[in-house]
Amino acid sequence: MVRRKAQSFAAWRVNTYHCGMQPSLLEILCCPMCKGDLELKVTTEQDGDIVTGTLICKECRERYPIEDGIPNMLPPDQRG
Ligand SMILES: [Zn+2]
Repeated sequence: MVRRKAQSFAAWRVNTYHCGMQPSLLEILCCPMCKGDLELKVTTEQDGDIVTGTLICKECRERYPIEDGIPNMLPPDQRG
């Protein structure tokens, strides 16, 4: 199933934690555990959009998976 670009971008904005007003998407994301900066590892990219990948906290090294273009920012103990 392919999601439309607008949908996936909206999901980024709705489902992620915002830590400031910096212009870059990555810079407004932070670790929900320690509020540290996140490092992005892209696994799959399509038309310039991230489809799958991983966000890694530079402070506590926690990992948050990205699936179908949507980052799962839940702390590990709250994931299903
Ligand atoms: Zn962290």
